[in-house]
Amino acid sequence: MDTVEVVVIGGGQAGLSSAYHLRRRGFAPGPGFVVLDHAPHPGGAWQSRWPTLRYGAVHGLHPLPGTVLPDAGAQRPSSEVLRAYFARYEETFDLPVRRPVDVRAVRPAVDGRLLVESDAGIWRTRAVVNATGTWERPFWPRVPGQAGFAGQQVHTRHYPGPGAFSGRRVVVVGGGTSAVQHLLEIAGSAAETTWVTRRPPRFREEAFDAAAGRRAVALVADRVRRGLPPQSVVSVTGLPMTEEMRRARERGVLDRLPMFDRMTANGVVWDDGRFVEADAVVWATGFRPVLDHLAPLHLREPGGGIRLEGTRAVRDARVHLVGYGPSASTIGADRAGREAAVELAGALAPSGDARR
Ligand code: FAD
Repeated sequence: MDTVEVVVIGGGQAGLSSAYHLRRRGFAPGPGFVVLDHAPHPGGAWQSRWPTLRYGAVHGLHPLPGTVLPDAGAQRPSSEVLRAYFARYEETFDLPVRRPVDVRAVRPAVDGRLLVESDAGIWRTRAVVNATGTWERPFWPRVPGQAGFAGQQVHTRHYPGPGAFSGRRVVVVGGGTSAVQHLLEIAGSAAETTWVTRRPPRFREEAFDAAAGRRAVALVADRVRRGLPPQSVVSVTGLPMTEEMRRARERGVLDRLPMFDRMTANGVVWDDGRFVEADAVVWATGFRPVLDHLAPLHLREPGGGIRLEGTRAVRDARVHLVGYGPSASTIGADRAGREAAVELAGALAPSGDARR
């Protein structure tokens, strides 16, 4: 068993930002802190985004702390560009990332420390920064008849790109950016597309300024303060209207129907009798935080969420959540990593070997 001051779980933007700031605040790689990441490569969730998500299409990306975003072609796959960027980052700042290490559970130890159990052993630690994101917990709504649908069903998590839907009748479900991106590219070669969202989508013509960003974050932060499951920040910012979307709207691609009530073997059905025949349904219905490994710590409130004071869990001050709720964006992840590191430096004051 290794003993360290801080274990960071997850090596995406939030985990690497935490690592960068822990180093800057005197935690030594190794005895001071370690990052455990179960992904095969650097890049966090970006390494497994769908192949046709181009670098130029991920607007609003914030660079990792202390760097600028790579100057790469807009047409290159975002997964490729960002994987290389994250790998360089880990190397440049000499961050102690152990990979692939799958964290299975975090438990309280009898001596007041925490035990981080993984497939590569156990780490004994004074604090955990949890940065496990949402990508690995896709959310699928349950709809009557869903299991009997004879066509293909795929979630954004495993969306293969538009080629798989060429010549087919496709229903895309979801009101976020991913849904629109899928819809636009599938519409180019599908026989027919239908867009379905629970609420009418909100298109945003105006630029998304800092004040609007703060308002969106405040909405999510308020839910987290009340112990409710967070919504994604991206889901409350509205859909930025692009030139491509304007053209698609003129062609009727963005005409939207409310959520259907049932599925049959060959399509989707509304209670008012409307029926749309479909060969495939693409569920762009979002993600939930990856937190099962924290269950032994009983951090959840009756409302289902984890209450935070800044990044610190109200129910256990040894645990920080970064990239969660209001910090689930690239800029939020950067800030949360810094906040967690500043607080842990104050609370733990690393010394001896743990100090750089
Ligand atoms: P991740 O990048 O998911 O990293 C989590 C890491 O933890 C992964 O490496 C994973 O392997 C690891 N992990 C998980 N569980 C374990 C475990 N048990 N043990 C060990 N390791 C584990 N934000 C923006 O600001 N701008 C955008 O344009 C934008 N576009 C987006 C597009 C899509 C399709 C999606 C889904 C999100 C987008 N976001 C965007 C949100 C943004 O990607 C994330 O909020 C941000 O990257 C946060 O990263 P993270 O470190 O929290 O999580």
